[in-house]
Formats: sequence, C-alpha cells, structure tokens
Amino acid sequence: MIIEHLTKHLMVINSLLPPTTLQSPSTGQWYIVTTDPKLGWVAVDRKYSWEELDKMWRRVTYGVTIKAEPKRIKETYKVDGSKGNVYNVTNDNGVWTCSCPAHGFGRGKDCKHIKEIKNGKHI
Ligand SMILES: [Zn+2]
Repeated sequence: MIIEHLTKHLMVINSLLPPTTLQSPSTGQWYIVTTDPKLGWVAVDRKYSWEELDKMWRRVTYGVTIKAEPKRIKETYKVDGSKGNVYNVTNDNGVWTCSCPAHGFGRGKDCKHIKEIKNGKHI
C-alpha cells in the first residue's frame, strides 16, 4: 500500500537544478521547489527525502531548457516624428524604448511613439 501512495505523488520534475523541499515558516506548508517552468513551487503534504525527489527529477540539459523557455520577443518599429524625424521604437520582451528625445527625458516612460504602437496604429 505504501508503494501505491508513493506512486500517486510521483510527478515528473523537469528541472535544471535538483528539486528540494522546504517548509513555509508561517503556514507550515511543505513545498517541492523546482526550476521547472511548468511546476515552480509545488505544495505537498509532507517533506520529501532526496531519494524520492531524485526519482522524480529529470535532469534538463541546456539545449532542452532553451526550447522550453517562452519565445523572446524583440520587435522594432519605425515611427514618423512630428518634425519629419524617424524614430526607432523597440519592444524588447515587453520593455519598450524609443530613440526620440522625449523618451529619454521621460526616464523610460512611454512617449507618444510607443503609445502609438501600443494602440495598434503601426501593427
Ligand atoms: Zn518616442
């Protein structure tokens, strides 16, 4: 019966680093901590020994990990400025930058060119 119980809790952890268990000091909840992007921290009912974790752990090689990661988005747009200038607006994985002076003065705040693209006028 013990074997059945263990099997029920046996999950596959695709993790670059070895999984480990830790207990929350505030709630007493046990977690299996993984670097598996699909799992992250998994709430469990008890502490797991390293022998158990080792059975669940699928060692992720470098190449496989890269494939599993979400695609990095990098897009560049050209936007006409009001004085005939052309500015480059870049979306680097959600971080927007613009080559116009207003963006520089705004310390990283969205300038009108970034807002224009976010509003969908150039997509
Ligand atoms: Zn701009």
